[in-house]
Amino acid sequence: MNSTLPRPSDLDTLSLQLSRPVRDVVEIPARCVCGNPLVAATAPRLSNGIPFPTTFYLTHPAATAAVSRLEAAGVMAEMTQRLSTEADLAAAHRAAHENYLAERERIRVLAGLDPVWEIEGVSAGGMPERVKCLHVLVGHSLAVGRGINLLGDEGLDRIAESWTPETCTCAQSWDHEAPVPQRDLSRHVRRANQGFARQQTSSSEDAPRSQPEEENA
Ligand SMILES: [Zn+2]
Repeated sequence: MNSTLPRPSDLDTLSLQLSRPVRDVVEIPARCVCGNPLVAATAPRLSNGIPFPTTFYLTHPAATAAVSRLEAAGVMAEMTQRLSTEADLAAAHRAAHENYLAERERIRVLAGLDPVWEIEGVSAGGMPERVKCLHVLVGHSLAVGRGINLLGDEGLDRIAESWTPETCTCAQSWDHEAPVPQRDLSRHVRRANQGFARQQTSSSEDAPRSQPEEENA
């Protein structure tokens, strides 16, 4: 995949996609065909000191919504069940876990951080034994390409009718003209006073909250 360092415009796009300020983004490991980020690679230790295990965070609102619908349909329980009966799949899931840890190590070095002992050997999304967050697995698949996280690949296949990385849906997936969320609200207030305030679109509702709260920076 065309893995690249984040540009300032990428950080603004990520913040608009998630309706919150992003932080500690080290890399954009997957992009839409139009160039917008699909996944953010986040430092394993945030600048406030907190360990952050979700290295690959799915950010595109249309993708996260599609994955949320899969989760609501009970796919995670079904996949977890299959891990107990399909030996090949279970082995692939463990290998995906190892790849996730190796990728996090690469991101850690790229960010110039010391080892993050608190999450040593701990990946994300329920790996290596379970499926607890499909967004994590799909984000991993998009970041590293197909053939490494098989359940993430399957998740991509199963949402393909509503979203694929090959078709740009960015224009209708978030408000591109909204003020960029940031901790310093002065800009927001200033723009609001100037009449630039816009209503929050309801489409942002299920995107950032669909990922587990404890993994949400
Ligand atoms: Zn796009």
